[in-house]
Amino acid sequence: MLAPVLPYLGVRGIDAWGAGGFGAPRDGGKRPHLGTDFITRQCPEKSLGIAVMDGVICHVGQVYGADENTVFQEETLGTIHIKSGDFYFKYYYAKALHEKGTKVYAGDTIGVAQTLIPLFREKDSSRDDITDHIHFEVHVRGADGEYTRVDPMRYVAEVHSV
Ligand SMILES: [Zn+2]
Repeated sequence: MLAPVLPYLGVRGIDAWGAGGFGAPRDGGKRPHLGTDFITRQCPEKSLGIAVMDGVICHVGQVYGADENTVFQEETLGTIHIKSGDFYFKYYYAKALHEKGTKVYAGDTIGVAQTLIPLFREKDSSRDDITDHIHFEVHVRGADGEYTRVDPMRYVAEVHSV
């Protein structure tokens, strides 16, 4: 499976706000992080969200759209969902380049990375900045028809080892 972010800058390590690996603790250990955070850059050229398999964009929206207190910058943080057979992929913190319903092919650019830094400075300016990233989730449909979130690196790592 292709990497969901280009250029590939690796997975967010431990910063002042947590770690970016699958299963890392969130909310003081109350819940696990069920995606992987791929490091992004904002300049001179922004990182891009990439379709990892052929599929269809089935949702384009705002990550924190339901919370009026999170409008903190010109570009509201976006989310893009893609369905590919038994896989369902979710990208967070990317501005979508296509509308819902668009067919995409592996390797297509689907979004442009957005910065999280102003949001987290607003939450607590005494902490160091969060590492900018695209949060990526892999949901896999099982025999029972239910989707489960699995470690994206299970799939993405294959690409980087060849
Ligand atoms: Zn994340």
